[in-house]
Amino acid sequence: MEKRDYYEVLGVSKNATQAEIKSAFRKLAKKYHPDVSKEENAAEKFKEAQEAYAVLSDEAKRKQYDQFGHSAFSGAGAGGAGGFDFSGFDFSDIFGDLFGSGFGFGGSSRQTNRASRGRDTVMEVHLTFDEAVFGTKKEIKVDTMDECSECHGKGGLGEKTCSRCHGSGYVTEEQRTMFGNFMSRTTCPTCRGKGVSYDKECRHCHGTGRVRKNKKLEVKIPAGVDTGNQLRIAGKGEAGHNGGPNGDLYLEFVVADHPLYTRHENDIYLRVPITITEAVLGCKKEIPTIHGNVTLTIPAGSNPNDKHRLKGKGIKDVNGHGTGDMYVVLNVVVPKKISKEQKKLFEKLDETKLNDSSEFKEFKKYL
Ligand SMILES: [Zn+2]
Ligand SMILES: [Zn+2]
Repeated sequence: MEKRDYYEVLGVSKNATQAEIKSAFRKLAKKYHPDVSKEENAAEKFKEAQEAYAVLSDEAKRKQYDQFGHSAFSGAGAGGAGGFDFSGFDFSDIFGDLFGSGFGFGGSSRQTNRASRGRDTVMEVHLTFDEAVFGTKKEIKVDTMDECSECHGKGGLGEKTCSRCHGSGYVTEEQRTMFGNFMSRTTCPTCRGKGVSYDKECRHCHGTGRVRKNKKLEVKIPAGVDTGNQLRIAGKGEAGHNGGPNGDLYLEFVVADHPLYTRHENDIYLRVPITITEAVLGCKKEIPTIHGNVTLTIPAGSNPNDKHRLKGKGIKDVNGHGTGDMYVVLNVVVPKKISKEQKKLFEKLDETKLNDSSEFKEFKKYL
């Protein structure tokens, strides 16, 4: 069976907001949750919706998906069908308020407090033209959820085995839900599935095991990055839950314009001002490239916007695929103010036959 588009699965548009995505998923989860649903193929539909939500609710993953489709996660998927592996995703905030906390989950994971991976963080980093072209080391400040240093992410101090569930993390009991009564194995309410309890809750993180922190991070930015490029820094996103691994940090670059240079991918365009006489007579010009000055011979009879290519004087490709070129574009500047002496010379020049070329003759035919 062909894998369905994630937006189609959730029934939202490509530019749906996170609130719309969450609300669409809640509706589907309510309809297809395998523990309560009587719909046909509920389990598959539920799984499909979970996968779509796990990707689209995460801005970094959503971006990857928008760009590459399902192939963005191929290889990482569980089972032959491929797709995004959402087994580490924490759905507890959704299911918690849908079914009430302690609701028994279908499938293999019955613990609400199981280890899960922290979310990815996306951060904009502003660079000057030179920093982007040559690479740089930058200290950046990341505001993200980090493991609480007081309790080492456990949320409590003085750890011991939970006396209610004897460390298993769940208890079996009759559960009343809005869908009727069930005998269900539910997460232990005393330890919330951790299997351990603590003498006291950690006051520093209020028992969550995570605190918001402003971290400083020294990052090496490779030469050649451009606006919109992302750099992934593994494990520097949000801290995981209950001992799960950290998410990743994505730095997205915004490169400032240069006063002279215009960048097109790895090529640089430079408009060079020359005088009318330089255009007519030809000249040698010093050209500032990012690799130092070079001398360019401009031939006699040059026209405005004539383009000269300086091979290899552009930007080194960020992925090592060669180096771009520089294009020098001639900007013939016609003076607005001239001296009396210059005026005389131009008048003298005008008496000579400057308009003898074919363009002028062709034009005159129609007069
Ligand atoms: Zn317990
Ligand atoms: Zn703590």
